[in-house]
Amino acid sequence: MIRGDSQLDVVVAGGGFAGLTLAIALRQGLGPSVSVIVADPMLGRSYVDDERASAIVAAARRLFEALGVWQSVAAEAQPILDMVVTDSRVDDAVRPVFLTFAGEVEPGEPFAHMIENRHLVAALEAKAREVGVDLRATAVTRFSTDQAANSDHPPGAMPKGSAQHLNVELADGGPIATRLLVAADGARSSIRELAGIAVHGWDYGQSAIVTNVGHERDHEGRAVEHFLPAGPFAILPLKGRRSSIVWTERTADAERIMALPDDSFHAELEQRFKLHLGEITTVGARRAHPLGFFVARSFLAERLALVGDAAHLIHPIAGQGLNMGLRDVAALAEVIVDAARLGLDPGAETVLERYQRWRRFDTMAMGLATDGLNRLFSNRSTGLRFMRDIGLGLVDRVPNLKRLFIREAAGLVGDVPKLLRGKSL
Ligand SMILES: Cc1cc2nc3c(=O)[nH]c(=O)nc-3n(C[C@H](O)[C@H](O)[C@H](O)COP(=O)(O)OP(=O)(O)OC[C@H]3O[C@@H](n4cnc5c(N)ncnc54)[C@H](O)[C@@H]3O)c2cc1C
Repeated sequence: MIRGDSQLDVVVAGGGFAGLTLAIALRQGLGPSVSVIVADPMLGRSYVDDERASAIVAAARRLFEALGVWQSVAAEAQPILDMVVTDSRVDDAVRPVFLTFAGEVEPGEPFAHMIENRHLVAALEAKAREVGVDLRATAVTRFSTDQAANSDHPPGAMPKGSAQHLNVELADGGPIATRLLVAADGARSSIRELAGIAVHGWDYGQSAIVTNVGHERDHEGRAVEHFLPAGPFAILPLKGRRSSIVWTERTADAERIMALPDDSFHAELEQRFKLHLGEITTVGARRAHPLGFFVARSFLAERLALVGDAAHLIHPIAGQGLNMGLRDVAALAEVIVDAARLGLDPGAETVLERYQRWRRFDTMAMGLATDGLNRLFSNRSTGLRFMRDIGLGLVDRVPNLKRLFIREAAGLVGDVPKLLRGKSL
């Protein structure tokens, strides 16, 4: 077991999905001998006004089940029973269906569930409290290695691998000596910046408008992805006669649409939504998210690991951003627990290197795949449209290929960490 002594074993900066899930997994895997702090100034508040819902793929659901979190949100989660992909222009009267997926990875196990972010984060926070994670509503502001405290090395120039702990400062106090600091502080991670870790990436010049709608007819668990020239328009089923809309537009158009009065916004929405679920009865609050892509050059620095959006940001076209973050969390928790059982220190370079080897290539592959999908579909070229429709039609006719895509999308392909296979650590 890791010896806590007078210092903390792990400090997690960021109490979103990634940070809270990691903290729970560590406490459950190693028990009370490991102390874990999660610091986030927005604890309990970050998702309150967030209309976003997430597609939680089968592997991620298995992880939440293994941690005992899924059980408390299952009633709010809508299984995705099938998925339909169309490729058309906004004003096309008919939207031919090119690809359909009936969505089970195993008999009775849907490939994904839709759930509103606020329900899931509330359940994670409650579980974190229950297992003894120390939750602090404050920000991590700075950190330095123990050698740096006695010298004036800039972070990137410090001798590697020799510090026994990091000194972490919180906005309301500190320093705290910790074996490992985990940056789970989102895409604009200040921890990543303080560590001098650069990112490779670009902006898409697109924004996703997100809102939830009520409609007359039952969606029957069907998710619909309309590929329109400005980007995908996704209708994702929520519990009841409601759906989550993720509507991608070029940023200038998104700004114009966001500024519309309610009735005009409703009309623009309806033009894309069409009437297959009857009239739209309610439209919730709207919010626009600018879209970009990046992968951090490194997922680690001395006694520091990056997880979730702090390590990578991808286009929501395939609904995989959070699922990738949970894969980071499951892999990092597993390498830490394995190491601790051998009496090793969780922040040791060899432990963190194992995490990076496990996750970085896989992240790059998924990031580039979603980038390619967006380029292929957010496009007005008629020739390209013809080719991609043939491609979609071909995939639709080859059952084994479709099965492989479903398992890949469900996070069940490759070197899958234990928690994502539903096994405890
Ligand atoms: C429109 C849209 C739709 C999406 N749909 C899906 C989907 O269907 N499926 C899916 O898998 N993914 C989806 N995603 C991606 C998903 O929402 C993100 O990947 C996920 O929220 C990232 O979680 P995180 O915990 O890494 O970061 P965040 O949720 O950003 O959490 C970071 C936390 O860190 C805190 N913080 C920041 N700075 C500090 C600091 N200095 N100290 C302490 N705390 C700090 C913040 O307050 C915040 O609570 C979507 C994204 C968008 C934009």
